[in-house]
Amino acid sequence: MRPFWLEQALNNQPDEPCPPLRQDTRADVCIVGGGYTGLWTAIMLKEQNPELDVVIVEADICGAGASGRNGGCALSWSAKFFTLERLFGLEEAVRLVKASEQSIYAIGDFCKKYGVDADYRLDGTLYTSTSQAQVGSTDAVVAALEHHGINTFSKRPLADVQRMAGSAQHLEGWYSPAAASVQPAKLVRGLRRVALQLGVRIHEGSPMVGLDEGQPARVITPHGNVTCAKVVLAINAWMARAFPQFARSVAIVSSDMIITEPRPDLLERIGLTSGVTVLDSRIFVHYYHNTPDGRIMLGKGGNTFAFGGRMLPVFDQPSPYANLLRNSLEKFFPAFTGVDIAATWNGPSDRSVTGLPFFGRMGAKGNIFYGFGYSGSGVGPCHMGGQILSSLVLGLDNAWTRSPLLNGPLGHFPPEPIRYLGSLMVRNAIRRKERAEDLGRRPRRLDVQLAKFAAAAGKADKG
Ligand SMILES: Cc1cc2nc3c(=O)[nH]c(=O)nc-3n(C[C@H](O)[C@H](O)[C@H](O)COP(=O)(O)OP(=O)(O)OC[C@H]3O[C@@H](n4cnc5c(N)ncnc54)[C@H](O)[C@@H]3O)c2cc1C
Repeated sequence: MRPFWLEQALNNQPDEPCPPLRQDTRADVCIVGGGYTGLWTAIMLKEQNPELDVVIVEADICGAGASGRNGGCALSWSAKFFTLERLFGLEEAVRLVKASEQSIYAIGDFCKKYGVDADYRLDGTLYTSTSQAQVGSTDAVVAALEHHGINTFSKRPLADVQRMAGSAQHLEGWYSPAAASVQPAKLVRGLRRVALQLGVRIHEGSPMVGLDEGQPARVITPHGNVTCAKVVLAINAWMARAFPQFARSVAIVSSDMIITEPRPDLLERIGLTSGVTVLDSRIFVHYYHNTPDGRIMLGKGGNTFAFGGRMLPVFDQPSPYANLLRNSLEKFFPAFTGVDIAATWNGPSDRSVTGLPFFGRMGAKGNIFYGFGYSGSGVGPCHMGGQILSSLVLGLDNAWTRSPLLNGPLGHFPPEPIRYLGSLMVRNAIRRKERAEDLGRRPRRLDVQLAKFAAAAGKADKG
């Protein structure tokens, strides 16, 4: 089953075919994986050096992974400021918050420049609270951003928050204009079109089944190999299984989504008329926005955990949490009770220990680069990933290649089965804690303590 967004994007316009690799070939750079990370990297390489011969091999079709099925909330790293400061120091934290905002704008500029219709709407974001326990949870980070002169958030009167968000469930809200919503699959398929236009060779249906890490390196696919000077691994949640050294760097966890049939009349009635993205302050956050054709899409992170980082068949099926999503939808928007649901789906997120992606180089020759671990927050950050990986490939000396984001994984999960059992224990504690808070009750102390394991990474992760 293709997720709703990808289906919609594929029906939207016929795409130039990218047939599987059927013979051996040579290239300067081979990028493995055709999601945002791989495609941004390819495009940035070609924009900086049009002569470079760049090949992408993609196991399925471009956008088949998280990039074609996510919530489409393009957010900055503002809410991760404390984590960034703790890990990388103040100066780099400030730089990264600003760079993450620049990426939001750059995605819009890219769409305009290349005529990519990705339903990009620069209508900002609302970080809200939906229980008394959440109230005030955004204050400290906004105060810190303000202190360092990088704050874009302002607290809005409750009536405005509820009107903008279309829901009386919100008890407070901070608004930032530095965020956008997109139709994620239209964006990734647009990136694919532009990459082709710039001369990138793309082979879909061509999984990397082996990698010779020499100089030159060799990316092996079932019917042809790519011999190349440099390789970029952009396979996201698949990295954990493909390379044993990363088996404990990420936990694979689903985010689950629901989308209604179009009801622009109801959106008008409840006030949710802009492309604003709305996120509550749960650990496994609710996130939603409308679509230009009058639907509501709502997602929730932290549901299905995969033992040993496996790609589970359920990630390509309708969400097993459809009822929970429907209940959340109707709780936020009573006017949508009984409205037809167009689809539910889910997908794997690569949750790192820090909640941040990490990048690096591997192989004895140091000519193989990787980046993953976006932790359910990659729509904007993958654009930064493209800058990092293209800078590495080009051997540049810049703020990206000097960034500590390039120090590889900054933490490991415990080995299986402890990771899996521990994840379920923490997830269930979070569920109990947040259920109690929704009902205005005091959660159990043990649940609060366990929930801290997941809360450490910061707000607004959708994995
Ligand atoms: C359901 C869901 C909702 C989300 N919502 C949001 C959101 O609202 N906002 C946000 O910022 N982020 C969100 N995210 C996260 C975001 O989608 C990801 O961080 C981002 O798309 C990662 O892009 P990527 O290119 O690194 O990986 P992917 O898009 O997953 O691309 C990896 C590609 O590699 C391919 N591949 C795998 N193995 C191989 C192989 N061996 N050979 C060749 N190709 C291979 C896959 O087929 C895939 O196409 C969400 C994620 C999910 C799953």
